Amino acid sequence: MIPVTKPYLPDRKKFEKYIDGIYQRHWLTNKGRLVQDLTQRLEEYLGVENLLLVANGTLALQIAYRVLGISGAHPMGSSEAITTPFTFIATASSLKWDGVEPVFVDIDPDTWCLDPANIVSAITPKTKAIIPVHVFGNACDVEAIDSLAREYNLKVIYDGSHAFDTKYKGESLLRHGDAATLSFHATKLFHTGEGGAIVFKHKEDLERAKKMINFGITGPERIEDLGINAKMSELQAAMGLCVLDEMEENLAARSGVWLRYKKHLASRVQLQRQSPHLSYNYSYFPALFETEDQAQSIAARLEADSVLVRRYFYPSLESVNCLGEHSPQAISSDVAKRILCLPIFDQLGKEEQMSIINIINMELNS
Ligand SMILES: *Cc1c(COP(=O)(O)O)cnc(C)c1O
Repeated sequence: MIPVTKPYLPDRKKFEKYIDGIYQRHWLTNKGRLVQDLTQRLEEYLGVENLLLVANGTLALQIAYRVLGISGAHPMGSSEAITTPFTFIATASSLKWDGVEPVFVDIDPDTWCLDPANIVSAITPKTKAIIPVHVFGNACDVEAIDSLAREYNLKVIYDGSHAFDTKYKGESLLRHGDAATLSFHATKLFHTGEGGAIVFKHKEDLERAKKMINFGITGPERIEDLGINAKMSELQAAMGLCVLDEMEENLAARSGVWLRYKKHLASRVQLQRQSPHLSYNYSYFPALFETEDQAQSIAARLEADSVLVRRYFYPSLESVNCLGEHSPQAISSDVAKRILCLPIFDQLGKEEQMSIINIINMELNS
């Protein structure tokens, strides 16, 4: 069976060395050495400041909402945040979970990121923030979004779960927004098993978040603020340190896979239009087919050959009941129906990949 993705497993001997250290120090969590090391190394690697490691990417979003004052009630009812319907459920469900109404605006038909032209008409007196997603690692139109946010006095939190190691105009894409979040779930490009991070623009926000992820506790007998448990453990950090050491090999293998798909499929299917200022991380290979039927028959044909492709992201989130009633989002729901993400991971062999490409081409010809 060829899965759509396979978690990256780093050198086991090295991982065991880190585990030995954990045993020697007898220190498993709470400001451990490995979490501190990983924080510093990620800031250097990504070229960002004010990075905070947390337990997962969903808590990263929720802590960012709290710190930036987005969660909670507005005098006129629930607060609102403008976001994209074309993303993983956590972007919107985390808002709803925290009492903030997600307000969906449609995506650009080519970049599949939230289209800034749709933002202004969705702003109400209750709007507190914009939560765009750098979907599949593509860069949102950060200049347009950041300038609208300034004009209307809104916070911006980019869900950068797919944007590890992407650069925009030569700098980390994660430097945009009041905060940008990352997911280090096992299936993501860089991972810690479960894990995540927040990159804050301002140091004061980082300092507040540090307290918040440890129950608001600031001393042995001192609780300063309302908090939650969102700490990363030493075991997670150990995995992250090992995966980070091997990023170069991982990226080289994935870019090979990505470029081979592109070479053989670019003239047959629609690919995501990437920002011209982006340097890409080869995290996903989404392909948009002409019709839902075509996408579905290709998925079925691949599955019969033990290849699992996924409809990322389906369904478009305005149609998910637990998120409440929302107006139709024509472009997102159309893209969601016709898209398939093809298998991409470091160990995907050339022959396996060519068999996937051949099946797709055969179906497209039939
Ligand atoms: C993976 C993902 C998340 C959630 O991250 P977890 O670490 O699984 O909690 C949020 N948003 C997007 C876009 C994701 O892909």
